[in-house]
Amino acid sequence: MRKGRVDYTKLRQRMVEEQLISRGIKDKRVLTAFLKVEREKFVPKNLRKEAYEDFPLSIGEGQTISQPYMVALMTQCLKLQGEEKILEVGTGSGYQTAILAELSKEVFSLERIEKLAHKARRILHNLGYTNVQIFVANGTLGWEEFSPYDRILVTAGAKEVPLPLIEQLKDEGIMVIPVGDLYSQKLKVIEKRGDVINSRTVESCIFVPLIGKYGWDESVKNG
Ligand code: SAM
Repeated sequence: MRKGRVDYTKLRQRMVEEQLISRGIKDKRVLTAFLKVEREKFVPKNLRKEAYEDFPLSIGEGQTISQPYMVALMTQCLKLQGEEKILEVGTGSGYQTAILAELSKEVFSLERIEKLAHKARRILHNLGYTNVQIFVANGTLGWEEFSPYDRILVTAGAKEVPLPLIEQLKDEGIMVIPVGDLYSQKLKVIEKRGDVINSRTVESCIFVPLIGKYGWDESVKNG
């Protein structure tokens, strides 16, 4: 290692030990994915040295790449085995998308901001992911074409669970979604069993708002 060079592998290992394992992330496949995916590739160049810090970072357009622990917790709650078809709402940087792509069969990811979607698509392509498709779309409507989904992950704060997402979730499927007001939410795990929808709260959290027909109005301030 040349002097002055950042050892990202070491930072990644430290992040997994100090931020994830120590807080109860146990799923071995999730931890392996976090050891593999190069988070620094998904953050703006001037923030790369902070890529493995214990907080969200700005990715431009008023949006953020979520705190590593929150990405890990949401992923663990999805209970992925490797064969799932996933809908992700809120591609952002594409980091969470990469983690999902490592752990499932295919990922459809929706992002409302074109610039972010293009950037994430390019990074994921350069990293060799072939099981991901990113669309520029209002994710509160879901993406009917490929539904139903085994898992749905929403990575922006909703004021309620969007009805189309419940409809597009497979029977026995799991959805993870932050729900609450603009400035604080509860991370919910929703399980569909026929007509019965079970919901439990896992953690308090703060996400940028989910904008759209079944989300917040465009006029709310992002960030
Ligand atoms: N998981 C992402 C990552 O790893 O970088 C971070 C996602 S960021 C916290 C939330 C994203 O949701 C933002 O990029 C925002 O533009 C997007 N978003 C908000 N409302 C949306 C909607 N209705 N449809 C699609 N994307 C939406």
